Amino acid sequence: MKVLNLINGVLSPASSSQWLDLTNPSEGKTYGHLPRSGSADVELAVSAANSAFKSWAATPAGERAACMSRLADLVRDNADMLAEAESRDNGKPVSLAGTVDIPRAEKNLRFYASAIQHFASESHVMEGVALNYTLRKPLGVVACISPWNLPLYLFTWKVAPALVSGNCVVAKPSEITPVTAYLLSTWVKEAGFPDGVFNIIHGLGSEVGDALIRHPKVTAISFTGGTATGAHIASVTAPKFKKLSLELGGKNAAIIFDDCDFDDALATTLRSSFANQGQICLCGSRILVEKSLYPRFRDALVAKAKKMKVGDPMDPSTKMGAVVSKDHRDKILASIELAKTEGGKILCGGEKTSPEGLPHLQNGYYVQPTIIEGLSPNCRVNQEEIFGPVVTIQPFENEEEALEMANNSEYGLAATVWTNDLKQAHRVSSELETGIVWVNCWLLRDLRTPFGGVKNSGVGREGGFEALQFFTEPQNVCIKL
Ligand code: NAD
Repeated sequence: MKVLNLINGVLSPASSSQWLDLTNPSEGKTYGHLPRSGSADVELAVSAANSAFKSWAATPAGERAACMSRLADLVRDNADMLAEAESRDNGKPVSLAGTVDIPRAEKNLRFYASAIQHFASESHVMEGVALNYTLRKPLGVVACISPWNLPLYLFTWKVAPALVSGNCVVAKPSEITPVTAYLLSTWVKEAGFPDGVFNIIHGLGSEVGDALIRHPKVTAISFTGGTATGAHIASVTAPKFKKLSLELGGKNAAIIFDDCDFDDALATTLRSSFANQGQICLCGSRILVEKSLYPRFRDALVAKAKKMKVGDPMDPSTKMGAVVSKDHRDKILASIELAKTEGGKILCGGEKTSPEGLPHLQNGYYVQPTIIEGLSPNCRVNQEEIFGPVVTIQPFENEEEALEMANNSEYGLAATVWTNDLKQAHRVSSELETGIVWVNCWLLRDLRTPFGGVKNSGVGREGGFEALQFFTEPQNVCIKL
């Protein structure tokens, strides 16, 4: 497998001719290469995007939407192949890629192909005096930078609103999982996008990513990734007054009251803890349970987690695959060791592992689903993002204490609340310092809703018209009557 850049409609290696390794985390083996692009490639991509901008911005929204719909058709037609590619590149179960990642990538493209045709500007009448109308103009060349955990899903979530609103895009997928973005790039021409409108460059964040955010012609950056990277991007670009959307890390709480629907809360909390090996920014990694329910809920969750076995991600029956890389596995294992030194009791898991009876997977990067209790809310394991199949469980006395524990975090992305008392659900939700709250559910997504976090989880919102607003600049025109 050889991944290539897409610059000005041409698929090409990096101008330096240097390559990076592609790793299959389920086997711990190199299986291909991607371009190690740098500032010369950024220059070529930004210059192509800049040349294409005037004409793309003047293209009717319906025509831009038609290109996006054709791209969505190509994703749908190649869905099985994309799901396998995502699984191989990331380590996630092919069943998850086939039911979540790839269908959602297609939906993102279709959603924004439609949304742009319903996106209207406002007017404000000053009776008898003047008429104001507010144009929403595309920004120019924008950068879209995405992470490895939901590779094509999060990549399309950014490039779709950026492109349909008339911007030219230079996108950079994660170097750890670049394959599905590359496959998408092979269909960009066929979908009808003019050369230069949609460019995709590959390589290291610290090299090609950094050159991209610093380029003076890049007017806006939509970034999803770690909080430290987001802080770096903000510090570099804020003095240049670039528009920024930052979707960053999380340390989400699942708050479980004793009047909840027990079976539903249990099954969903198992999923919100370990789906995608815990590598979803929305996973609930701090489980808070009302004291009266605590022993029963804890024991049932541990029993279910113990039954989860890692398996071959390519086997359609596998629910738990590999984590994304050796470095990431080692970081997760180090957090488990830290939990022990902080006084945590490992209730299940806690070790690296590999699928039974499959010799070719013995060098892959697998971690057992791990539940830890007995940690103080302020300890590092309860404060730092682990981003793996590791959760902590803690009892709380009452609503007030639950809120205090949940909000005791520098992150503020999402939370789940489990109760059948609607008044309590509303009270707790409105007091939570997060951008998203799910009551009696998790990861139920309506793409029209605002998506994003507060505190160290980010700045700005994606989703619905919010993303179209981000990717356009309002200009008010006042006509005296
Ligand atoms: P990361 O910050 O290491 O990398 C994200 C992207 O940024 C990659 O494409 C990387 O190459 C690029 N990058 C790195 N350094 C850069 C630089 N100096 N300039 C420009 N680009 C640079 O994050 P990751 O490890 O890929 O992803 C995991 C993180 O993403 C977790 O913290 C997770 O919580 C977060 N995340 C957040 C959301 C959300 O919606 N809030 C969604 C998914 C993941």
